[in-house]
Amino acid sequence: MDLLHTQLAVVQRQLAFVATDPIDWKLYVQAFSWTVTFFESYLLLRQFPLYSKTSPPDVLAAHFDEETFAKSQAYGRDKARFSLVSGLYKQALDSLLLQYGFYGWAWDVAGRGIGQFGYGPEYEITQSIVFAAVLVLSSSIPTIPLSVYQTFVLEEKHGFNKTTPALFVADLVKGWALGLAIGAPFLSAFLYVFKWAGDRFVPWLMAFLLVFQMSMVVIYPTLIQPLFNKLSPLAPGELRTRTEALAARLQFPLNHLYKIDGSKRSSHSNAYFFGLPWSKHIVIFDTLIKESKPDEVEAVLAHELGHWHHAHPTKFLVISQAHIFTVLALFPAFLHAPAFLRAFDFSPAVAVQGPTIVAFLMFQMILMPLEAVVSIAMNAVSRHFEWQADRFACDLYPRFSSPSALANASETEKAEVEGMRDMGDRLAKALITLHVKNLSTVWVDWMYSAYHHSHPTLTERLRALEGFRLERAKKE
Ligand SMILES: [Zn+2]
Repeated sequence: MDLLHTQLAVVQRQLAFVATDPIDWKLYVQAFSWTVTFFESYLLLRQFPLYSKTSPPDVLAAHFDEETFAKSQAYGRDKARFSLVSGLYKQALDSLLLQYGFYGWAWDVAGRGIGQFGYGPEYEITQSIVFAAVLVLSSSIPTIPLSVYQTFVLEEKHGFNKTTPALFVADLVKGWALGLAIGAPFLSAFLYVFKWAGDRFVPWLMAFLLVFQMSMVVIYPTLIQPLFNKLSPLAPGELRTRTEALAARLQFPLNHLYKIDGSKRSSHSNAYFFGLPWSKHIVIFDTLIKESKPDEVEAVLAHELGHWHHAHPTKFLVISQAHIFTVLALFPAFLHAPAFLRAFDFSPAVAVQGPTIVAFLMFQMILMPLEAVVSIAMNAVSRHFEWQADRFACDLYPRFSSPSALANASETEKAEVEGMRDMGDRLAKALITLHVKNLSTVWVDWMYSAYHHSHPTLTERLRALEGFRLERAKKE
């Protein structure tokens, strides 16, 4: 532990200039955030001409009739236009808030607010919670019209919206209440660790965040998701039998199998799993069940179980811990740095006192370049994981059909394994159905995709699936 702290102290010395040098951090944040926004707009503009194509790529030609393809192009174009406008709007808003000292103002407002109840500046954590609430409300209220437009105009126009205005308002209120119920204790504990551990906060804070992440794995699906959606046990039938057999064969510790009413809000569909290592739950969207045959849904689940087999969630957790560590290791230099806070228009009194949350928030802003790189890298990793999970589904047959694997198998088991032969084809079918039903964009610019997409494009996935099939045919 001492070695860690010595190393961290070295980093801090390297960054000592932050505390004293009058650097124009605000200008730097403005410049960088506008650069990112313009770059994202440029990517959208690269994508635009592709919406004018009149026919899908060859691999998909058989699956799209002319009308559906035209619909998907129109939907894609509308979404891209919306992203362009909303991206610029949000950036303009953030930029104005930053330029005119909104954060300093919000901190003072929070201070006056708690002052009304007799709490002084020594109640830093209380003031921090009020400050965070002011920030959340004042940054989310101006974007409500965007969500309203997206849900009730854009999605509605293309036939996806199932949300009623009452549900929309209920979701919004629930979201805020939940943010307060979880956010306030989280923030208190987070800030308390800083206070308690002093300069040695890095390992403690990492431990705290890890415990928090792990408990969210349990709390989110059991306590939070049910507030928004209804999870009900999947009814007995072909899909249930298939899923249970697949889980048993792979020794996936399946505890519960749920259907979720995703169709309550939207017609977009999917499936996922969650839980602790020894007890997992699978959730399937009712829309997926409705649109695809049981054996196709099974192939989608085989893909999901591929994520489990390759421990993808754990790998993501490890990457995120490394990321958090880097961020926290850099932070101390910014924690007691009056010059840094002065650059963001905090009053000299506040800057000297250096409230942790304020320093952390401003620190997050200047980390934007790092975060941009991390997000592009994470997308690349995620696309690789998707490819691995597809490959896993296709390789189930060779894995279980080898002579050694079938040595003591009963006739029923042999038939079950034989049934896996076309898993790849079924996965392809399910992916195409999902894509067609969701009117997802089929022509995607490579640079746009590299920047934004956590999944390979449909064309890329189908090509890879075909590759796995050919590879296997050659071996056989
Ligand atoms: Zn996946």
